[in-house]
Amino acid sequence: MIAKVWLVGAGPGDPELLTLKAVRALKSADIVMIDDLVNPAVLEHCVSAKVIGVGKRGGCRSTPQDFIHRLMLRYARQGKCVVRLKGGDPCIFGRGSEEAEWLGARGIEVELVNGITAGLAGATQCGIPLTLRGVARGVTLVTAHTQDDSSLNWQALAQTGTTLVVYMGVAKLEEVQRELLAGGLTASTPVAMIENASLPHQRECRSDLANMSNVAQTFRLKSPAVIVIGEVSGQGRVKRECLEIIDSHLSAKG
Ligand code: SAH
Repeated sequence: MIAKVWLVGAGPGDPELLTLKAVRALKSADIVMIDDLVNPAVLEHCVSAKVIGVGKRGGCRSTPQDFIHRLMLRYARQGKCVVRLKGGDPCIFGRGSEEAEWLGARGIEVELVNGITAGLAGATQCGIPLTLRGVARGVTLVTAHTQDDSSLNWQALAQTGTTLVVYMGVAKLEEVQRELLAGGLTASTPVAMIENASLPHQRECRSDLANMSNVAQTFRLKSPAVIVIGEVSGQGRVKRECLEIIDSHLSAKG
């Protein structure tokens, strides 16, 4: 394989959800630069790669983006096959296109490899169809977290009639709930919150929009999680642990 940078999606966590192309890239890699949310189990496909952790989780110690850019560039210029491994899909809230553009502007060949994004994986793992004939004609992927902390127009999103899949939303549930209700989504709109989608320790919790933030607190929902809001979230089998939490929450409210 010629020296270039592969920007590869590692999928949501389950190593079996890797693409064959991702596996091929890992096999050929000299250098693998890996994000926090990537399951290290996927590294079993590496033959002789040096693995460098370059994670940057919200609120934690992080690797500056500029440093990551320069490191990829340095190794690529040495003729090394560099794999930049990101959680989910590299281009869904993953800066894949920014990195591709930065490297491309410096003459480095880049190949982007799809991964299964967490929102799609989480929903499917819980039996929730993000689109459903007669129920949801589309799906909107949205992040609750913005770099400049500006607020999204949730009220407009409430009007789209599509399923909403919220990334990076755990700390913003109260705001999301308030704004979507103010925007006209009904209080009984079903919600599913899925933590560590596709991993053995996946947890899921269901609610309605009016109780979303409180139910998440009772459930102790933690990042990484995706929140699926819309009629389709009433679909699929609901786990017993989840039903008990909803019951206890409703009875606590009297
Ligand atoms: N590029 C990634 C998203 C990175 S942003 C993708 O396509 O999936 C990080 C956010 O993704 C997390 O805050 C969370 O909302 C979501 N996420 C990533 N992995 C997840 C997982 N296994 N389960 C649930 N949510 C996850």
